[in-house]
Amino acid sequence: MTIKERLTSLREARTWEDKIPFHYEYTAGVAGESFLRGLIDGKILGARCENCQLTYLPPKMYCTNCFREITSYRDLGLKGRVAALTEAYLDFAGEKVEKPYMIGFVTFTDAKGGIIQRVTGRRPRIGSRVVARFKPRKSRTGAITDILSFVVES
Ligand SMILES: [Zn+2]
Repeated sequence: MTIKERLTSLREARTWEDKIPFHYEYTAGVAGESFLRGLIDGKILGARCENCQLTYLPPKMYCTNCFREITSYRDLGLKGRVAALTEAYLDFAGEKVEKPYMIGFVTFTDAKGGIIQRVTGRRPRIGSRVVARFKPRKSRTGAITDILSFVVES
C-alpha cells in the first residue's frame, strides 16, 4: 500500500484474526492469602496496621495511611452491618435468575472497607445487622464463596 492509498475498511489494515491460548493464574498475594485461609477456618480477617491502629478489609500488605508494611491480622468476627444494598437479577455468568437476590456491602466495626456478598434473611436493609453464614467446613476452598451469605439478624 502506498501513501496515496486509503483504507476504506478496518479489514484492509494489516491484521489477522486468530486465537492465542493464554492461561492466567493470579495469586492472591500475601495479605489476600491470609484472608482466604481465614475463610477456611470460618474467620473474617482484617490486616491491622499497628502504627496507625487501622484495620483493612480486605487485608492489605501495606498501610495506605503510613505506608508501613502490615504483618498482623485481626479476626473481625462474623457480625457486620449492611452499608449498601442492591437487588440482582443476573447471576455471576450474566444469566437471568428466576428469583432476584440481594447483594450487600457489609462492613465491620473498626475496619476500613468491607465485603460484597449476598445478603439473605428477612427484609434486608441498609443498616441491617448481619452475620456471616459459611459453607460446611469440608466444602470450603479458601474462596470468598465460602461465605454463603450474610444473614439478617432478627
Ligand atoms: Zn499505618
